[in-house]
Amino acid sequence: MIKICYLNIMKQDIRLLEKADLIEYFKSMGESKFRADQVWEWLWKKGAHSFEEMTNLSKGLRSKIEEVFCIRPITEDVVQRSFDGTIKTRFKLHDGHFIESVLIPVPEKDRFTVCISCQVGCSLTCSFCATGQMKRVRNLDAPEIYDQVLLVNRQCLEVYGHPISNVVYMGMGEPLLAYKPVLESIGLLTSETGLGMAPRRLTVSTAGIAKMIKKMADDGLRTNLALSLHAADDLKRNQIMPINEQNNLAILTEALQYFQRNTKDNKITFEYIAFRDFNDTIEDAENLLRLCRKVPNVKVNIIEYNKVDGVDLEKAEDAKIDAFARYLSKFGVAVTVRRSRGKDIDAACGQLANK
Ligand code: SF4
Repeated sequence: MIKICYLNIMKQDIRLLEKADLIEYFKSMGESKFRADQVWEWLWKKGAHSFEEMTNLSKGLRSKIEEVFCIRPITEDVVQRSFDGTIKTRFKLHDGHFIESVLIPVPEKDRFTVCISCQVGCSLTCSFCATGQMKRVRNLDAPEIYDQVLLVNRQCLEVYGHPISNVVYMGMGEPLLAYKPVLESIGLLTSETGLGMAPRRLTVSTAGIAKMIKKMADDGLRTNLALSLHAADDLKRNQIMPINEQNNLAILTEALQYFQRNTKDNKITFEYIAFRDFNDTIEDAENLLRLCRKVPNVKVNIIEYNKVDGVDLEKAEDAKIDAFARYLSKFGVAVTVRRSRGKDIDAACGQLANK
């Protein structure tokens, strides 16, 4: 619970309050719980970014609230549009840092996915990733995560006449190292008093932090889970993802099995970027198949790599990717090959870095 400091000259962001705090605040002003409901609705259902928008509150009440609180929204800074319809937006945070979000439209399937960030930079230094070359500056707070969905949803309605259908926590940062704000943002996105999205429309993607995968299950999260796998043997995975040294494949497999046992029907996906002459052979596919068999019903997404400056890894050849996918499919694994989107604007997987 957040303590409201009335004497603080620095105003607090009202969106960092929990509902109970807001009710308490209005009570202290002699106002009913109904006022807290109204403000909550403005903040999270209607996405108000100023108190002036709250037109069903009297001017006097709005001024009183504004004496104590502020709203610190993220703001659109640069918008880039790819030839394939993908839109990347750079957002500015209240303290001057930048993050990026990507809208990936698939109109023929009525699928409009937003890929959102949860940290400024990232501490995990995966060797293929542009964000990993930045150091981690800070976690986003829940409103900053929520705002990305809110604003990209508006963008999606404007450009495509369709709301966002899916949210993936796959942008900048490791969601399970920003667990509290990520959890809170999921609450806001899925709550009936927030955006009301179905939890199944949300996917949290992790580079693989076993104890936090188990915590997701313990906390009863109903979102999908994606593991950025990218290599199905420890020696190779250690080379490109240092997190694997403490969270090797055996430890991760055990955590995924725990997640499956302890959640209802949350889906698990392995994300697998195919790198030329590194992880794209049939032997690599065999290793992946062995892993899939330990995590029943797992889906595999094979992703085309997009070149990142200063990284030696290259995109695997299409023929090799297809053979790899066919091999897995032959043994009953649900596999999808995801061709790259938005690469002309550096919006593709692993390319977000605030250039
Ligand atoms: S791939 Fe994800 S976890 Fe790894 S460095 Fe990039 S943002 Fe961080």
